[in-house]
Amino acid sequence: MPEPLAGARELVDDLVGDRAAEWDRSGEIPDEVLRRLAARGLLCAGVPADFGGLGATSAANGEFTAYVGSRCSSLRSVMTSQGMAAWAIQRLGGPRQHAMYLPELAGGRLAAVAFSEAEAGSDLSAMTTTIEPDGDAVVVRGRKVWTTAAHYADVIVVVGRYGSGAAAVVVPISAPGVTVRRVPLPSGCRAAGHADVHLDEVRLPADAVLGGGQPLMLLVTTALAYGRISVAWGCVGILRACLDAARRHARDRRQFGEPLARHQLVGRHLANLLTAEQIATRVCEHASRGWDSGSPDMVIATVLAKQVSAAQAAQGAATAVQVLGSAAAHEGHVVERAYRDAKLMELIEGSTEICQLILADHAVSMAA
Ligand code: FAD
Repeated sequence: MPEPLAGARELVDDLVGDRAAEWDRSGEIPDEVLRRLAARGLLCAGVPADFGGLGATSAANGEFTAYVGSRCSSLRSVMTSQGMAAWAIQRLGGPRQHAMYLPELAGGRLAAVAFSEAEAGSDLSAMTTTIEPDGDAVVVRGRKVWTTAAHYADVIVVVGRYGSGAAAVVVPISAPGVTVRRVPLPSGCRAAGHADVHLDEVRLPADAVLGGGQPLMLLVTTALAYGRISVAWGCVGILRACLDAARRHARDRRQFGEPLARHQLVGRHLANLLTAEQIATRVCEHASRGWDSGSPDMVIATVLAKQVSAAQAAQGAATAVQVLGSAAAHEGHVVERAYRDAKLMELIEGSTEICQLILADHAVSMAA
């Protein structure tokens, strides 16, 4: 059987080349790059073959996500959004919706996922967006913020209140009442297409609703599981890029008559970076193994992977900047971008503190 991700890295090398810094500065990934990757199913490679996807395992998709993340965190962010949208549809939708949406996402259409609102960041239970049935249609009203990839997306999976519970709804960007406004000058992942999304009386067919009536936090946890494991693998990529840049620089640059790597305090930085990359990789591999085997511990393993990898990436990127010195003080340098991008990974898909609260609850409920 052919390996579903055969040739994927080469295509990424070809399309990204040395342009990640340029995209970071301009805040834009060329449409052609996103469309070519999307058309190959690579932005949501976990979509099963039955729905026109590549059917990659979480482990294989994770390693590919890390590869993309090592090249360009903005592109990796778009990939996370696409994968999360597909996952939400797969988990929350019925057979008709699978057939309607998944082949499109695996075949070139671009998607984003909108949970957050101005007053509902960490506390998504404060969400006020509503999805209201109206005859054979639904009407969506709300204001979403910071939706990654919304600038590029054809559809946005919007989470909102539905009766006494919650639902997700697949909203085409072209639907009357949808307005997408870019977040100006984000500090990192600048080309990831973050945007605020306004939904003013958006009328859609009722079969655009996914998972209607589920408890809000259950629905959010389901969708976020994919986002967390994808971000975690993206952080592995950031660490690999930082380790690579730092070790090359420490070998080539000489100070006090010796390569930097020979100075033990610099060597300690390299050892810490290698350790960080290995820790993040192992915790992601563990989560992906659980994902691929359908382990009941999968959800907590993804939280752990995201928490550990984001912390290691933020610290690791800072360490890499230290090793490179002024060489990393140029806007757009791989390590300088990593420093800005990695910090944001501690804020999203459940901030460090929110992940700690989840892990603390888990620790308390563990059998003795
Ligand atoms: P707040 O909730 O106001 O939190 C501020 C600080 O307080 C944080 O450190 C937080 O951990 C801490 N805090 C809050 N509550 C507690 C508590 N109970 N205990 C301890 N500490 C607490 N949203 C989407 O829906 N879709 C996306 O695609 C998306 N992409 C994003 C991309 C980027 C780059 C960014 C920056 C944000 C994105 N978001 C997205 C929004 C993101 O999910 C929220 O920013 C995040 O949930 C944190 O919410 P907040 O920014 O409102 O911070």
